[in-house]
Amino acid sequence: MGFPDTLEDAGRRLQRRRSGAEGRSTVGEVMAVNCSRCGSTARGLARAPLPGAAGQAVLAQSCEPCWRAWLDLQVKLINEHKLSPAKPEHFERLIGEMNAFLNLHDD
Ligand SMILES: [Zn+2]
Repeated sequence: MGFPDTLEDAGRRLQRRRSGAEGRSTVGEVMAVNCSRCGSTARGLARAPLPGAAGQAVLAQSCEPCWRAWLDLQVKLINEHKLSPAKPEHFERLIGEMNAFLNLHDD
């Protein structure tokens, strides 16, 4: 029962394992972002929801409502395809789905 393991859970474990200096930074105020998915300039996330480049891309390019829409979709994908984000190949696949859904791009 309960919620499935998500990318965020796997990400948090990854961060812990990396003795994470980068996981500790907090941001005082939430910046407005120009969202890559919906095109609006809106409130972004308070901090990167994932470790590494993927998290930075979400932080810089996604508004909060779009991020929440991805979280809903992520749960569906995990259930439908029996994914377990703790497995590297499933993690990578979800990151790919996330990049496509949120229309993230490298700068
Ligand atoms: Zn958006």
